[in-house]
Amino acid sequence: MHYGRATDQFIQDHGECGGLITAVLVSAVEQNVVDGALLVKQGESIYDGVPFFATSKEEIVQAAGSLHCAPTLSAKVIKNYLDGARDTRVAVTCKPCDARAIIEMGKRNQINLDNVYMVGVNCGGTMSPVQAREMILKFYDIDPDDVAKEEIAKGKLMVLTKDGQHKEVSIDELEEQGYGRRKNCQRCEYNIPRMADLACGNWGVVGDDAGKATFVEVRTEKGKTLLDTASAAGAITLKDAPQEGIALREKLDGIMVKMARKAMAAQFAEFDGDDKFQKLFAQFDKCIGCRSCIEVCPICFCLDCLTKEDFVVSKGELPPEPMFHLSRLMHQSAGCVNCGQCQEACPVNIPLSTITHMVQTAEQKATGYVPGQSAEDPIPLSEIVEVQE
Ligand SMILES: Cc1cc2nc3c(=O)[nH]c(=O)nc-3n(C[C@H](O)[C@H](O)[C@H](O)COP(=O)(O)OP(=O)(O)OC[C@H]3O[C@@H](n4cnc5c(N)ncnc54)[C@H](O)[C@@H]3O)c2cc1C
Repeated sequence: MHYGRATDQFIQDHGECGGLITAVLVSAVEQNVVDGALLVKQGESIYDGVPFFATSKEEIVQAAGSLHCAPTLSAKVIKNYLDGARDTRVAVTCKPCDARAIIEMGKRNQINLDNVYMVGVNCGGTMSPVQAREMILKFYDIDPDDVAKEEIAKGKLMVLTKDGQHKEVSIDELEEQGYGRRKNCQRCEYNIPRMADLACGNWGVVGDDAGKATFVEVRTEKGKTLLDTASAAGAITLKDAPQEGIALREKLDGIMVKMARKAMAAQFAEFDGDDKFQKLFAQFDKCIGCRSCIEVCPICFCLDCLTKEDFVVSKGELPPEPMFHLSRLMHQSAGCVNCGQCQEACPVNIPLSTITHMVQTAEQKATGYVPGQSAEDPIPLSEIVEVQE
């Protein structure tokens, strides 16, 4: 476990926390460890993330910084546009849910994990772009287009405007009123991407380094290769993370896990009771059969899919008969990584991710199978973190 930062001043200034990731990716491409890096850069605004495959320093630098509204489809992008990394060596920045989806696709032989270098970023949650804009106006009284940066720290969502104004509102307050992080992120227990090759974040960076360096944990041999390559090229400086920082990072992770378990209990309770099936089917009755939930799912790839076309139910029938939803649940829940994309894409606001995650956790209890668990990490992920009071 180290603190690291870029040596290049431009990368340091443009990186989120010292530019370690950008510098590591540049070295990986320049030293021919990988053919390119699948990254996310800002599109029209800070609420918009555009995935792209960068093969030069100039392109990699364009992605420096963190985008908190960008969605989670890197597994699907690797599968559909980079030929599942069959013959291309790909470095990819990934939140824990991205990394878990990549691993699930690897297990299904859709991605060649040997060619994928996962540079994980810690994640305390992301926000839905449209809702985030609405929230900035309503709670901060700021034009969403004037926001230069937003950040979650110490239980508050902090917003900095282009003209230097700084405002913050507690996450609890935002989430009580239906804003803040995506509902699936509120339920997420995986904040540190321990299943990736490197796990990078600002948690645990204390003292003079706070905000200027990244805490990086090496999880695998591939992660070590990435750091060693960047160090040997003189692109990064590393020093051992202090005990105080390591303890703080664990503590923050423990707090987030505890919050996630509370959110899980509260959100799943909406489907409790003797009338649980009526509640479920009332939601499914809203369905217009568009199949967006299946199109966006990062672990669904089949061509003659069980849930597509006329396999289970006729495409023209509305609402689709319950068998469609039951098949979808059976098909996707075992490997669900709780990325929330199905719910985000649903035009009629069915809480699909909540329902799928609820079924997934029930299956997990019964089978012990944890989606997105890596070969290097044989312990069920949910048992790694000791929850702290
Ligand atoms: C959505 C999000 C939430 C985060 N939450 C936390 C947190 O709660 N606690 C914590 O300790 N750290 C968190 N981080 C990590 C932290 O913000 C920094 O990314 C990390 O410290 C690395 O800093 P850096 O200067 O080395 O990165 P940089 O050199 O600036 O590189 C950042 C890289 O991240 C990639 N990236 C940006 N947005 C996304 C995205 N949405 N999905 C995938 N890749 C992306 C870019 O492609 C870029 O290559 C979060 C990051 C993201 C993206």
